[in-house]
Parts: sequence; C-alpha cells; structure tokens
Amino acid sequence: MGREALLIENLRKSYGNLTAVDGISFKVEKGEIFGLLGPNGAGKTTTIKSIIGLLRPDSGEVRLLGRRMPDKNVLGKVGYMPQELALYLNLTVEENLKFYSGMYGISGELFEKRKKEILEFVGLERFKKRLVGELSGGLQRRASLACALLHEPEFVILDEPTVGVDPHLRASFWGHFRELSEGGVTILLTTHYMDEAINCDRVAIMSEGRIVTVSAPQQLIEETHSKNLEEAVLKLTGYTEGRK
Ligand code: ATP
Repeated sequence: MGREALLIENLRKSYGNLTAVDGISFKVEKGEIFGLLGPNGAGKTTTIKSIIGLLRPDSGEVRLLGRRMPDKNVLGKVGYMPQELALYLNLTVEENLKFYSGMYGISGELFEKRKKEILEFVGLERFKKRLVGELSGGLQRRASLACALLHEPEFVILDEPTVGVDPHLRASFWGHFRELSEGGVTILLTTHYMDEAINCDRVAIMSEGRIVTVSAPQQLIEETHSKNLEEAVLKLTGYTEGRK
C-alpha cells in the first residue's frame, strides 16, 4: 500500500435541483479494499458512475490509476460490476464472458486461459453452459463478478456486489476480494451489509452527498463509542431512534 490508485477532489454532481454528490474528496491507496457506505440516496452510485465516466460530473477531478478521467485508456485496467445485472440472460455464462472479452480485446488462447481461470475463481466451471437467465440470483452475481474480473483489472469497482447473495457465497466473495487485494488489486465497493464492511481496510461514510468521515472500520467504532460498525454508521449519518 501507500501508492495512490484513485484520487477524487471536490467532485460534484446534480440531477436538476437535486445535488446528489456535493463536493466530495477522498483517496484510495493501491491494494486497498475501500468501502463506500451510507444510507439509500447518499450518493454512492452517483460517485461510482462519475469515477468511471458513466456520468459526467458538474465539477471536480477524478484521477484513476494516475490518469485524469475520463480517459478510455484507463478503462481496460478497470473492472466494474454494476448494481443491476449487466449480463445477457439468453446467453450462457461462457457466451457472456465471450461478449465481455470482445469489449476488453481479449481473444484466442488468452481468452481460453482467462475464462478457465476466472470460472474456477468464482466457482462457476460446472455452470458455464447454462443460460444466465436460468441461474439463481447468487450464481448470476458470480457470473457478473467473473465478467468484471475477466481482463485482470488493476482496479475493481463493485456496486453492492453481494445483494441477494447467501451468507456462504458472501463469505466466498470476500475471500476473493482479499485474495485480489493481496495480489495488488485495488477494490472500491459499496454495501449496506455492515458485517461485510468491517472487512474493508478503510471506509468512507457518505450522507446526503457529502463524506462524513474516512477511516478504518474499527477506528470508527472506537471513536464513536459504538458496539459495532452498524451503530457507528447510524450515529455518523445522523440517525436517531424513531426518526430517520
Ligand atoms: P442506494 O444505496 O439506494 O443505491 P446511493 O447512495 O447509491 O443509494 P445514488 O443512487 O447515487 O445513491 O442517488 C443519490 C441521489 O440522486 C438520490 O436522491 C437519487 O434519488 C438521485 N438520483 C440518482 N440517479 C438519478 C437520476 N438519474 N435522476 C435523478 N435523480 C437521481
């Protein structure tokens, strides 16, 4: 760690009159697992989409892997798993991987090698000939993760990767995240599961478009005198009992 993978400075994005992201700044180090936490509507997805250029911010700067965004040369080094399922339901797992390989410019033997590795990594080898539309929700999330990781990205962005995923599979996903991070891959993710967020190296807490704080999860618990991360986040985002 210690080298910058992502720098966000004074990022701002509005939809009409609504300011979704209100001048936020933070930095993610190379190899970190960094969590973006906060209630529904806090601005997490807007931030993520602004980072990778799916949305054009109103102002501010995003530097990803040393390059000022938007820069399509960087996108080949980035893996993105959106909140919604971005796979073809009427294609098999393998065919979806093939589709993504075309976008990443991977073909021939390299594609075959990466396909095998990634299917093993996410445990989908025996489901590779199945139509994605016929898989369970959890297996679809695994297929989604496989497509995001196919091209061995240096920076992975995962928007609520474990929604609808059973506890066993969630634990397995986190095993994968840690393995990637130990290999130097940087991971930026959002989640509403605080028992998962505790596994992040650092988290940024967002509320109403602003960053309330950035810290290691354990440090947040201690600083707010909370019994767990959930309580710490509730306190930091201004939740008081009986009122939201
Ligand atoms: P969640 O946890 O529910 O996914 P979030 O933190 O990712 O929420 P965003 O999806 O970034 O939050 O939304 C931030 C704010 O911007 C919300 O008030 C939302 O209603 C609004 N918003 C998001 N997308 C649009 C859009 N395309 N048009 C108008 N408003 C939008």
